[in-house]
Amino acid sequence: MKLTVLGCWAPYARANGACSGYLVQGEETNLLLDCGNGVFGKLQEAVDFRKLDAVIISHLHPDHFADLFSLRHALKGSFWDGSRDAKLDLYLPGEETEYSFLLQKFSDAFNIYYTEQFTNVEIGEFKVSFFSTVHLLPCWGSVVRGSTGTLVYSADTAWDDRYRQIWQGADLLLCEASGLEKDREYARGAHLTAGQAGQLAAAAAVKRLLLTHFYPEYDLAVLKQEAARYYQEVELVHEGAGYFV
Ligand SMILES: [Zn+2]
Ligand SMILES: [Zn+2]
Repeated sequence: MKLTVLGCWAPYARANGACSGYLVQGEETNLLLDCGNGVFGKLQEAVDFRKLDAVIISHLHPDHFADLFSLRHALKGSFWDGSRDAKLDLYLPGEETEYSFLLQKFSDAFNIYYTEQFTNVEIGEFKVSFFSTVHLLPCWGSVVRGSTGTLVYSADTAWDDRYRQIWQGADLLLCEASGLEKDREYARGAHLTAGQAGQLAAAAAVKRLLLTHFYPEYDLAVLKQEAARYYQEVELVHEGAGYFV
C-alpha cells in the first residue's frame, strides 16, 4: 500500500500547496481520501483521475471537499470523450447542510453513498471501516486495510479516548495536528494539538506516525518538537511524498 500526500494544509494552503488530499494505492486500487482545495491538480501528478476507484470525503469543510467541483467536471468530460464510462464512487457524510444539498447534484458524475450507512466497505483490494470523530460537524475517519498492513486516517478531530482502541497497532497513522500548545484552547473540541496527536499515537502503540493538516503560519519545526515529546519518531508529511505501508 502506498500513501501519496497531495496536500497537507488547513484551512488554506501555503504557496503552491494544497489542502487535505491523500491518495492510497494498492496493486490495482486507487482510493482518494479527501479532496480539498488544490488537490485535483496535485492528483494528476500522481495518477490519472480516470483510474480512481473511490473518493471518501471525511466531512464537509471546504478544505476537505472543495476540489470535488474540479473532479466532477473532469469526470463529465471523460464520459463525453469516452475515456471513462463509469461514475466514480463517492462516500460523503450524510448530514443535511447547505453543502450536502449542493453535492446531491453531483450524482451526474458520482455514485453517492453516505458513510453513516456503512460499518465496512470493500474498495477494490482494500477493506475500509469508518469511525466518527469529534469535530465541529459530522466527520468520519478511516481505517484502510490492505494485504501489506493498516493505514489509519484521523480526519479532523479533537481528543477522544476511544482512539487508543480504534487506532491500536496501526502500521501507519496519518494524524491531524492542527494546533500548537499555545493554541490549545482555540483547538479544543475541534482539533488536536501536535502534542495530543503524539500522546494518542503513543497510547495506541501505532508503528509509524505521520502528522498532517498544518496551519500555514506555523513554524513546523516547533510543531514536530511538541509531538516528539510523546512519540519520538514522529514525522511531518511532505506534499508529493510517498509513504509505504
Ligand atoms: Zn480540516
Ligand atoms: Zn474540519
